[in-house]
Amino acid sequence: MQHLRETDPEIFAIIAKETLRQEEGLELIASENYTSQAVMEAMGSVLTNKYSEGYVGKRYYGGNEVIDEMEALAISRAKELFGAEHVNVQPLSGSPANLAVYMAAVKPGDKVLGLKLDHGGHLSHGHPVNFSGLNYSFSQYEVDEKTQRIDMDKVREVALRERPKMIIAGFSAYSRDIDWKAFKSIADEVGAVTFADIAHIAGLIAGKALENPVSIFDIVTTTTHKTLRGPRGAIIMCKAQFQKDIDRTVFPGIQGGPHDHVNAAKAVCFLEALRPSFRDYARQTIKNAQAMAGELMNRGYKILTDGTDNHLMVVDLRSKDLTGKVAEVALEKVGISCSRSTIPFDTRKAMDPSGIRLGSPALTSRGMGTGEAVAVAGLIDEAVKNHANEAKLQSIRSQVRELAKKFPMYGDKA
Ligand SMILES: *Cc1c(COP(=O)(O)O)cnc(C)c1O
Repeated sequence: MQHLRETDPEIFAIIAKETLRQEEGLELIASENYTSQAVMEAMGSVLTNKYSEGYVGKRYYGGNEVIDEMEALAISRAKELFGAEHVNVQPLSGSPANLAVYMAAVKPGDKVLGLKLDHGGHLSHGHPVNFSGLNYSFSQYEVDEKTQRIDMDKVREVALRERPKMIIAGFSAYSRDIDWKAFKSIADEVGAVTFADIAHIAGLIAGKALENPVSIFDIVTTTTHKTLRGPRGAIIMCKAQFQKDIDRTVFPGIQGGPHDHVNAAKAVCFLEALRPSFRDYARQTIKNAQAMAGELMNRGYKILTDGTDNHLMVVDLRSKDLTGKVAEVALEKVGISCSRSTIPFDTRKAMDPSGIRLGSPALTSRGMGTGEAVAVAGLIDEAVKNHANEAKLQSIRSQVRELAKKFPMYGDKA
């Protein structure tokens, strides 16, 4: 980054500081990951200079013959990776991708069904402060109070009562497999469009470690920067019958020019995810999450649903008489990043809820295995237990740094 150093030493220094923070810390935020240097090189390329409103072969600007080649390659790789009939690679991020789906599949005021935010859903699945909740008439399904799992009989009950035009399956904080076929059969019963938001688990699906909904559902969106380990962005996959409507709502409905440099980086990430080694990554990510959840439970923590099928878990800290914020702050002090999280039927507020969400994708990208995952669970327990003991937190901080140093973010390729 020689040019940046000379032109803007302040931003250069900030990036250097953030690099060190990432390198010396343990990243347990379930939605974060370390993208490859190949992906970053594509993002830092001259493709950012281009305007390409429109689609392959149908652009509103000249000089797009090379960009067309790139976008067509990104699309064909995504199709191969997920087995999709149609892919739009232009969505700028997960929320705008979801906005495009609403605009393509339902009308303002129409009834839509989604998982409630504090039960593991996403803001864009009908929360009242989000465009989704503001513009569409949402009913929300919940997890069962006892098992903390989605109960498909209850989903069916709500669907039959509300007769939604679209049903959303997908989550940001839920650790169990989704029964895609059961969602599809409920949707068929009420004549609803099926929309899967696999933002969190796309990498695990691409790595064939979880069931793929793309052949079952009408429309599927995913971010590319979470378990899929690509650049910040999103894609929409759909059946051929939705192709025209999806493409029209992404552009010109919502967006202007696509971010060609990011779309090239998406193509790189799809290529990486097509490699056999990505399957090992997906499987190891789940094994590591299960090892971490197991160790935390051994240490007396309540994990929602008592375990995990994927890369994440939500810890109910009421089992330790602590709050999410106290735990998040203690963990931050020792260099462990996580996100506080509401738990289903939480009586506390979102700014200081009863839980934290932990995930294994970033640690796994650094090459850590189940032994390290268990060790990290131990460090979490120590930090949380000693949240008021600054000296003890300091010593845990150096243990965290030591472990992190053994697993460089970019190995010997840095
Ligand atoms: C992360 C996430 C999104 C939003 O992605 P952004 O890129 O942050 O807009 C949408 N849906 C789900 C389920 C997510 O987890």
